[in-house]
Amino acid sequence: MSKVVRTRYAPSPTGYLHVGGLRTALYNYLFARKHGGQLLLRVEDTDRMRLVEGAVENFLDIFDWLGIEFDESPRVGGPHAPYVQSERLALYHDAIATLKEEGHAYPCFCTPERLEKLRSDQQSQGVPPMYDGHCRTLSADAAQARIAAGEPHVWRMAIPKQQTVEVNDLIRGSVTFDSSTIDDQVLLKSDGFPTYHLANVVDDHDMRISHVIRGEEWLPSTPKHVLLYSFFGWEVPQFAHLPLLLNPDRTKMSKRSGDVAVEAYREKGILPEALINFVALLGWHPQDEREMFSLNELVGEFELERVNKAGAVFDQQKLNWMNTEYLSRKSDDETWDGVAPHLSDELQGVSIARVRYAVSCLRQGAVSYLDLAEKVSEAFRPSVLVETAWEEAQLNLIAGLADRLSALPAESWNEFEVLMNEFKSLANSVGASQGLKGKGIWMTLRLALTGREHGPELGRLVGMWGREDTLNRLHAAVANMTSRDAQ
Ligand code: GLU
Repeated sequence: MSKVVRTRYAPSPTGYLHVGGLRTALYNYLFARKHGGQLLLRVEDTDRMRLVEGAVENFLDIFDWLGIEFDESPRVGGPHAPYVQSERLALYHDAIATLKEEGHAYPCFCTPERLEKLRSDQQSQGVPPMYDGHCRTLSADAAQARIAAGEPHVWRMAIPKQQTVEVNDLIRGSVTFDSSTIDDQVLLKSDGFPTYHLANVVDDHDMRISHVIRGEEWLPSTPKHVLLYSFFGWEVPQFAHLPLLLNPDRTKMSKRSGDVAVEAYREKGILPEALINFVALLGWHPQDEREMFSLNELVGEFELERVNKAGAVFDQQKLNWMNTEYLSRKSDDETWDGVAPHLSDELQGVSIARVRYAVSCLRQGAVSYLDLAEKVSEAFRPSVLVETAWEEAQLNLIAGLADRLSALPAESWNEFEVLMNEFKSLANSVGASQGLKGKGIWMTLRLALTGREHGPELGRLVGMWGREDTLNRLHAAVANMTSRDAQ
């Protein structure tokens, strides 16, 4: 690639960062890095009705968390600053002046009421809603007089008649559009702000963008952009339109079927490296079957040629699996640092050493730090006293366990193998002599210790609790039964 590669992520600050937006930003990042180019973030805030306070800062914070760095942005500045469209209005006004001079733009005075009537008439006739060119035929003098008289107006693009507009897309190849199907797009609104289309083209040119990589939903707008480039006499950047993100039922990904905000995944305890890896594979595939990639490895592997045309299914289960994988690669210390902020107040009475031990015992298979924190809390929760009556043999087994564990020397309480052996030899001796069988033995012991049917291995649990807590639980279980018998 001879030209310097410059890509951009151009969000509108209308809310949260959508996972689709993250995918767009990521591909732009990977492509720029792969080709030794630059990536910038530009804020497209020309739709003043939809602005959300704090959205830009929020985006930038999330990208920091993910490790996606922008070479130029409102935060770090750069040679093409400002990177916020509402601060670049003069450029768009100049652009309109150029288009007007060349006859590619005309003022339109149609009222919202007229446009609304036009739209509803077209709808009832079953034709696609489009501006009918009403003001396109006004003479220059008449238009000028109305502007001078202060009549509200917008500026529209004069789409040439009977032309075929070709968009060359790096993913989709050549896509052609008949200009009669392209609306005379508003370029400058009556509030003096440009629409997305004008600002986007002016800025991509001004900021020397070589590759426009964005979601498929922008493909239908691209012929307008191609025409604008040609009106201005500017070089057209390369386009790459990314496939839609789909729900597992192949409908368009939406809030209804799950979380779409990156923030929600962060809150759920998904790791940035897992999210990046997962999102990279939404619509792009590496050369081989490999699935685990760090951000740097993705830079090495990424190619637009391997982005698919078909929609990409967002599979939450796979994201969870990937997060589990990344969690399992963390050291015990890293895991502790990750889980500590999520630990519940329920654990306040438990020593840090015990909680840390529990974290290291329970981390395997945890889907997230949140999930692990919950497992730890659960392991220390007081036993549920069992309501069913124990049989004599079960009571003897529980008493046998209490005897054995009381006799264990203090240092053995830290030894999982020793603790586990106590359970096993108890099962073989007392269990067998009382006529109890495998599953019955283990279930009796688990119920006596926790009151629950499932949970971590018993040797692990009693090691987490320590001697005192364990024996208290056993005595409470026996006392509960005794008192029930006495009733
Ligand atoms: N501002 C547009 C958006 O919010 C950007 C589209 C583009 O990248 O051209 O998605």
